Amino acid sequence: MPIRPEFRPFYRTPEWREARHRILTRAGGQFDLLGNYLGGAHCEQCGKPDRNKVETFSGVMAFLEHQGPAMFWRTVGATWRSWTNTPEDRSIAFRQKLRVIQVVLAVVHLNHTPGDDRDENLKACCQWCHLNLDKSEHRVTRSARKDATRPLLQEAC
Ligand SMILES: [Zn+2]
Repeated sequence: MPIRPEFRPFYRTPEWREARHRILTRAGGQFDLLGNYLGGAHCEQCGKPDRNKVETFSGVMAFLEHQGPAMFWRTVGATWRSWTNTPEDRSIAFRQKLRVIQVVLAVVHLNHTPGDDRDENLKACCQWCHLNLDKSEHRVTRSARKDATRPLLQEAC
């Protein structure tokens, strides 16, 4: 998800750069002496390796006791893992349509509040985990923005 213009200033501060450095380090990331991120971090939710290609499939599915959004991934030839980073040896797959994706980690705010850069509020997440964490928030902000563009609703307020 692109960062909305009104939130961009939060991601340009030295505090944010420090927070991002802390969280990516916690996730296994390496930095050079100048503080440039070199890769090596893993999604703190599902374990996907940043900047690597993985096979994946996802969707809303029933799986064991779980019912809802689910995702499985593996580096090619390795064991499948679930969205909770649990090894998954059962042959559930594997009739699913696989995609190969490039993992891109982002550091996300769990409470959706840019500027709240406490470690416990931040998590390094892959694209799928990020979208899934933000799903309910996206639904709320999307409908609010959509309503704001409707002239009849603005006049009624
Ligand atoms: Zn993930």
